[in-house]
Amino acid sequence: MRTSLFQENICSPNDPENKPLVVILMGPPGAGKGTHAGPLSEHLSLPHISTGDLFREHIRNQTAFGREAKGFMDKGQLVPDSLVLDMLFNRVSREDCKNGYLLDGFPRTIGQAKALDERLKNAHRIIALNFKIDDERVIERVAGRIACKGCGRPFHKKFDPPKQENRCDSCGGLLIQRDDDKEEIIRKRLEVYRIQTQPLIEYYKAKSDVLKEIDSRNTKEKVFSDVLDVLGDVVAASLSFSRK
Ligand code: AMP
Repeated sequence: MRTSLFQENICSPNDPENKPLVVILMGPPGAGKGTHAGPLSEHLSLPHISTGDLFREHIRNQTAFGREAKGFMDKGQLVPDSLVLDMLFNRVSREDCKNGYLLDGFPRTIGQAKALDERLKNAHRIIALNFKIDDERVIERVAGRIACKGCGRPFHKKFDPPKQENRCDSCGGLLIQRDDDKEEIIRKRLEVYRIQTQPLIEYYKAKSDVLKEIDSRNTKEKVFSDVLDVLGDVVAASLSFSRK
């Protein structure tokens, strides 16, 4: 098993210009963003911020904001930028994000990407990891996807089953399927992805050394290893810089 590059706390994960690192996990639903976000966050010692999780927290807490977002989520649509941006920017202004963070499920529109660029004002190093996968695999993966109601840990009925049926290995919580992971909703989410989110690939491709492609059809272990290899160059440069 690889050890965290930041485990020794010698440095913060900055790039050679000493900019905090923002890693964006991109790709259609079911591409593995949520699966790899946790281990990657630990590896880089950066907080994992998922806009979907933030919305689901609001829904669990039955806030008015959560009710509004749920209306869109249940139909497989995107929540309007006006609701997403404030919530996300509030979250990343917290102290734990000062050395950088991992974004899972944001940005999802060109408008969100531009708003992020405007906010960061070139003071961060952005890496966008694009997890590539085909629709049929997405359906197969998402249909079997379950997550802990308590701690949110993801499992898969076929590819990553829990030790005890319907119970979380980490906290013993109940494992449930998300409402928006039902097949008809996932097909709608894929369509929304293609129209509203896929153009982000070109957006980040146009920026120098930002977009990194990951073949997400491979096993979980292989994909994670590829992610570390791709990030290795960036992070290794940071380490050599911060030790100077
Ligand atoms: P996720 O957990 O990332 O799959 O997101 C679940 C749902 O939350 C999405 O299908 C959207 O309805 C909503 N959502 C999450 N992130 C965003 C975002 N950045 N912009 C708009 N809607 C979002």
